[in-house]
Amino acid sequence: MTDNDAPIVGIDLGTTNSLVAYADEAGPHLIHGPAGAEDVILPSVIGFDLSGGDVTVGHTARLHAVEKPETTVHSIKRLMGRGFGDLRAESKRLPYRVLRRGCEIEERDVASVVIGEKFYTPPQLSAMILAELKRRATGYLGREVTKAVITVPAHFDDTQRQATRDAGLIAGLDVVRIVNEPTAAALAYGLDRAETATIAVYDLGGGTFDISILRIEDGMFEVLSTDGDTHLGGDDFDHCLIDLFIREVHKQFGVDITTPTIKQQLRTLAEEIKVRLSNADEAQVEIAIGPKDVYRRVIRRDEFEGMIEPLIERTIAACGRAAKAARVRVDEIDRVVMVGGSTRVPLIRQRVAEAFACAPYTAINPDHVVAMGAAVQASILSGAQRGMLLFDVTPLSLGIETMGGAMGKLIPANVRIPCKATENFTTFQDGQTAVKINVLQGEREMAKDCRSLGVFELRGIPPMPAGLPKIKVTFLIDQNGILDVTAVEERSGKNASVQIVPSYGLTRDEVKHLQEDAIAHAREDMSAHHLADVRTTVEFDLNKASGMIQKYGHLLPAGQRDELTRQLNELKELSKISDDPHAINKARMKFNHKTVPLAEIAVKESLKDS
Ligand code: AMP
Repeated sequence: MTDNDAPIVGIDLGTTNSLVAYADEAGPHLIHGPAGAEDVILPSVIGFDLSGGDVTVGHTARLHAVEKPETTVHSIKRLMGRGFGDLRAESKRLPYRVLRRGCEIEERDVASVVIGEKFYTPPQLSAMILAELKRRATGYLGREVTKAVITVPAHFDDTQRQATRDAGLIAGLDVVRIVNEPTAAALAYGLDRAETATIAVYDLGGGTFDISILRIEDGMFEVLSTDGDTHLGGDDFDHCLIDLFIREVHKQFGVDITTPTIKQQLRTLAEEIKVRLSNADEAQVEIAIGPKDVYRRVIRRDEFEGMIEPLIERTIAACGRAAKAARVRVDEIDRVVMVGGSTRVPLIRQRVAEAFACAPYTAINPDHVVAMGAAVQASILSGAQRGMLLFDVTPLSLGIETMGGAMGKLIPANVRIPCKATENFTTFQDGQTAVKINVLQGEREMAKDCRSLGVFELRGIPPMPAGLPKIKVTFLIDQNGILDVTAVEERSGKNASVQIVPSYGLTRDEVKHLQEDAIAHAREDMSAHHLADVRTTVEFDLNKASGMIQKYGHLLPAGQRDELTRQLNELKELSKISDDPHAINKARMKFNHKTVPLAEIAVKESLKDS
C-alpha cells in the first residue's frame, strides 16, 4: 500500500471537547471511543497523576477536575501559540499554573503549563488529546492512522496554526491541512457544491462565540470576516439560572448557597434545567436546603429567555458587525450554519432566523458538524468519492409513517432538487393532543422496511374529535439537498419541525440495492400496504362506534346494544387475525351498516345537547 492510500481522518480539536471523524462513500461519520457508539466526544481534558506518573485524557480526567484542579488541564486551546505576555488575563481564569518557560535562554515568549515539577508546552498537551483520537481512529479503521485534517477557529493567526501543526507532529500525525472551523461546518452540509454563495457560520459553544462570514466560489472558501466573544457561551446561560437560585434561596430561607461544592452542584443543576427548557415549556427545580427545607420552583421557558436575551442580543450584534466587515448586507447572506451545543436553544434559532431572514441549518448535530466537515475535507484531499452528496435528484423516496405502519410517500425518487411536497393528515383518536412524525426514506411500502431519518413530535394540539385536526406536513428539499420537514396543525397553528441531511449514511451500492429490493417485493408490499390501510380504517370506525355505544347504547332497544358490541368485537378480532383486506373491508361495511340506528340516535341526541 502506498502512502497515498493512507486514510486521512478529520479532527475537531476543541476548547472543551474534541472529536475525530472519517468520511467514506456513505458520507462522514464520527469514530467512537471504547464505551460504544455514543462515546464520540472526547473531553479536551488531561489529568496527571503525580504519584504514578499516569496521564489520562477525556471523561475520567474531567471527572477529577474538581478535586484535582492543579493537575488537570482543560481549555489548552486558549493557550495555543500565544505568548506568555498575551495570556496574563487568560491564565488568571485557569486553575493550573501557567509560566513563561526558559525565558533566560529563549528569545521566544512561550507560555508553559506547570504540573508538579514538569513544564509542558500547549502543543505537547494538545498532542496528548490528538494521540488519544489517533488511537481511536486506528482501532476503528484497523490500520495505523498517520494523517489528519485538523480544524482551528477562523481567527487563529499563523503562530496558533503552527502550534496546532506542531501538536499533530508530536502525536505522530501528518497534518495534511489546517481547516477553518466554519469552513468545515459548511463542508459538512456540502455547501462547497454551490457555485457562489455567502454563508454565515454561527458558533455558540459553552464558553466562546464565533461568527464567520464565508464566500464560496467554485468550490473554494474564503473567510470574509470574523467576530465574536472569547468569553460568551452556554456557561453564561447557566450562570443566569445559578444567580436566580442563589438570590431566591437567600430571600426565602436566609441561606447562602455560594460555597464551592454547592456551586458545582448548582452548575450541574442549572445546565440540566437549561437543556430541558430547550425541549419543554417549563422545568421543575428542587434544591434541598438543610434537613427540612426545600426550594421548589417552576421555571418557564419564556422566563429563562428573558434572562438570556441580553446575551443573545450580544451575539446578534456581533453578526451585524461581521456582515459589515465582510461588506455584505445581513439579508444578502444565503445560508446560516449552526455550530455548538448552545445553538439548540430555541430562542437562539429564532433570533438567528430573524436576523438573517432565513432558516438556519441545524440538521447535523451542532456538536459534531465541525468534525464531520473535517472528515469531508479529508476525503476530498484523499481523492475519495463524495458519496451521495453529489446527487441532484432524490435518490430514494421520502415520506412519513402513516397509521398502521405504512410508508406515505411525499417525494418520490428521482425528483430534481430543490423540491417541495405537502400532504394533509389528521388525528386518529378523540382528544389526541400529540402526533409522532417518523420521516422515512426508501422504496418499500411498509415503514419497517424503510430507513427512519428522524422522528419528531407535534405537541399541544387542542383536544378535538378524531379526524378533525388538520395537520399539514410539508417536505422541502433545498438546492443543497437539506430536507426540512414541518408539521402544522392548521386550526391551532401549533407546529414542529425537523431538519435532516437525507443523503448521509448510504452508499451508491446500498441505494441500488434498496431500489432492487423494492422491485423484488413490489407485489407483497402493495398488499401489505393495502392491508395496513384497511386495518387502520377498521380501527377508526371501531373507535367511533365504541364511543357511540358507550354514550348512547342505552337508548337502543333492549338486546341491540349487546348485539352491536358482540359484532364490534368480532370485527376487531377479524381485522387482527385475517390478512385478507377484502374480507375485512366487507365485514367493516356490514358492521357500519348495523351501526346506522345508533348513529341516528347520536345525531338526534347531540342536536338536543347543542
Ligand atoms: P460545545 O462547547 O459546543 O460543546 O457546547 C456546549 C454548550 O452547549 C454547553 O453550555 C451546554 O450546556 C450547551 N448545550 C448542549 N445541549 C444543549 C441543549 N439541548 N440546550 C441548550 N444548551 C445546550
